[in-house]
Amino acid sequence: MVVPCYNEQESLPLFYKEITRVSHEMSGKNELSFEFIFINDGSKDNTVKLLRELHKNDARVRYISFSRNFGKESAMLAGLKASKGDYVVILDADLQHPPALIPQMYEYVKSGEYDCAATRRISRKGESRVLSFFARNFYKLINKISQTQIVDGAQDFRFMTRQMVDSILDLPEYNRFSKGIFSWVGYETKYIEVENTERVAGKTTWSFQKLFLYSLEGIFAFSTAPLAIASFLGVLFCIIALIMIIATVVKTLTVGESVSGYPIIICMLCLIGGLQLLCTGISGQYISKMYMECKHRPKYIVKETEETKTQGEK
Ligand code: UDP
Ligand code: MG
Repeated sequence: MVVPCYNEQESLPLFYKEITRVSHEMSGKNELSFEFIFINDGSKDNTVKLLRELHKNDARVRYISFSRNFGKESAMLAGLKASKGDYVVILDADLQHPPALIPQMYEYVKSGEYDCAATRRISRKGESRVLSFFARNFYKLINKISQTQIVDGAQDFRFMTRQMVDSILDLPEYNRFSKGIFSWVGYETKYIEVENTERVAGKTTWSFQKLFLYSLEGIFAFSTAPLAIASFLGVLFCIIALIMIIATVVKTLTVGESVSGYPIIICMLCLIGGLQLLCTGISGQYISKMYMECKHRPKYIVKETEETKTQGEK
């Protein structure tokens, strides 16, 4: 199990209790052994202390602690890289992804029919209307303009085979948008429909602004359609300009009226200037992504793991 944690000191004890219960139940039924990999994504609270404690008392617990907050995407990546199991499940530490569903997910994947089992929330209970509106339309838009289809409401709670995890790890990109990556790698995914669950403790770090930027990340990472806007608008305005030129020439020749229209010139100037800036901005977005990719910076920096800690103590 791979668990990204950012300021989860309140949720962690409850979460640990729940996964211990579920894993106990599962190993009773099947010959299964577990490892729990927690990623401390630069938490400002006592998360890392709690993880050290958990590791001391339970050898199945491993942890990776980042040098600062690198974001959930990096945390998931680090966890997947560290995982050794034949199956990997990614889940949040706040119990919004109920571990009780894992046995069911395991059954689906074990049957061989699916390579991955994931949850899809069918209700957006407890979420603001504005956010739901934007979320729904984001999925509609991205599925229209991108080859990679992203299922509306699909969550990061995923049970995957080793093969699928390895495929995900083969994608080296810096700008990671997991929802897209999970879908891009293919494989058969079973979606289990769930109701939205509220956090057990602590609070979400996702503000509306952060979510909005994240959705743009998804669009720029999985679609080049916005780049085509510039070409489309360019052609459109050329046609409009041509019609206007012909109309003006014909009017001057037939009616003999001199051309007036200072306001329209200003309006057109502003409109076209604005559109040009918009298109430059869109190209800029792609260039900035390429810039970040070219740097080949590490996606996260590990400060401490259960292994380095034990070595240090010896
Ligand atoms: N998380 C993380 N790094 C971050 C933000 C969040 O590792 O920068 C973790 C967090 O601890 C939780 C999961 O990602 O386990 C989901 O975060 P959160 O509950 O804040 O998001 P929401 O469920 O509201 O989408
Ligand atoms: Mg949450």
